[in-house]
Amino acid sequence: MNRTRIISVLTENYIGKTVTVCGWVRSKRESKGVAFVALNDGTSQDTLQLVIPDTASAFKELHCINTGAAIRAEGLIKKSPGKGQSCELEVNGITVYGNADAEKYPLQKKGHTLEFLREIGHLRPRTNTFGAVFRVRNILSDAVHEFFQKRGFIWVHTPIITASDCEGAGDLFTVSSLDFEKLPMHENGDIDFSHDFFGKRAFLTVSGQLEAEFLALSLGDVYTFGPTFRAENSNTSRHLSEFWMIEPEMAFADLTDDIKLAEDFVQYLCSKVLEKCEKEIAFFQKFYKNTSIEELKDLAEKPFTRITYTQAIEELEKAKKAEFEFPVKWGLDLQSEHEKYLTDNIFKGPVVVTDYPKEIKAFYMRLNEDGNTVAAMDVLAPKIGEIIGGSQREERLDILKNRMTDASVPVKSMEWYLDLRRYGSAPHAGFGLGFERLVQYITGMPNIRDVIPCPRTPQHIRF
Ligand code: ATP
Ligand code: MN
Repeated sequence: MNRTRIISVLTENYIGKTVTVCGWVRSKRESKGVAFVALNDGTSQDTLQLVIPDTASAFKELHCINTGAAIRAEGLIKKSPGKGQSCELEVNGITVYGNADAEKYPLQKKGHTLEFLREIGHLRPRTNTFGAVFRVRNILSDAVHEFFQKRGFIWVHTPIITASDCEGAGDLFTVSSLDFEKLPMHENGDIDFSHDFFGKRAFLTVSGQLEAEFLALSLGDVYTFGPTFRAENSNTSRHLSEFWMIEPEMAFADLTDDIKLAEDFVQYLCSKVLEKCEKEIAFFQKFYKNTSIEELKDLAEKPFTRITYTQAIEELEKAKKAEFEFPVKWGLDLQSEHEKYLTDNIFKGPVVVTDYPKEIKAFYMRLNEDGNTVAAMDVLAPKIGEIIGGSQREERLDILKNRMTDASVPVKSMEWYLDLRRYGSAPHAGFGLGFERLVQYITGMPNIRDVIPCPRTPQHIRF
């Protein structure tokens, strides 16, 4: 089927050319013997205006077309005399592929709430908002690979089904092929997973980091970009049960290299969106007001503030106690309200917090000289809070073993991880960026459920 995408018609010079376009009707109106149709095909934030005089033979077909119909139209591209568009299509012929029921089509009216649109997740990509979200998401995905490939990182595919249950990043989903009606049991009443598909209990991964570590300690610089799963019961606007994560891991690198990589990465992604999605960002700026071209330009250019966890606590203690629901005290984790206070009120921009107390961070993070803190870093973004969590990894065998024992990590099943410290251990570092949090930050969408096509959250799964 030969068709021209609407984005091409609108951004390249098609005036005077005959084209065929296909898409869905956003609206139709008639005035003074001429009908106008706004057509969108998902490629562009803007619609193409189709113009059909009532003398044209296609006018007949047009009468029965409703909002939501899928059509094909051919004709001549002309300069538009009207406001709001530079060119329009003077229609010669129309084919209606599938009309839409005018009474029942849910996207008739403008200004549906995001909550309502979540209930029609299969139709919401046809709206301005979700078209924009998914196009931005696409540009960002592409830019992720561009960034790492340009720097010589090797894209590795870590497993989705995993045998390690000790990453500690959150609760795990079990993957099983056991018959739930007839579960094999041990005498003590526990399920006997030796009868399960893999001969032992398996899970959906919460992170590809541990596997990425052995790949980095062979290939140098690597990254993963894949789905991760957390069975935690967090019903917030920034948590999903299934989300995508990008995890670079670098051999021969320390925490400073890690922070630099994270900053360069976020800035690169931001600049790509500014370059390729200006219309989409302008749309979000106008209708949602949580993002702006100026803000993204700042983000893409200005260095991030860097502070230690200890300094962050000092700053937060200076703030009035009444501001926070949760206590601020050295040794306690930063809550999202504290993170937002640092980014939105104190530093007014992204903040990298480093060197957290070892008790609140994972066992694999490298112990600092002081014996109390670890070489961790979180990147906090305004309005969202944490978008990146990373660290330099513990490469010293004895210290790592002690940390595992303290954290009750089963050393036996992690011998392979310790081998990396036995044979050619090297300093290495990496981080995880939650892809949806980044899309949320850049688009300014208030809820993470609105930046992924099929959100999975506690008590909610569809499609
Ligand atoms: P949070 O404290 O916000 O729950 P976390 O400390 O559990 O985050 P990490 O385990 O460090 O996060 O995961 C790395 C990144 O993955 C986070 O910085 C965040 O961007 C993203 N992330 C973590 N959990 C979720 C989730 N449930 N939904 C979406 N993104 C998430
Ligand atoms: Mn979490």
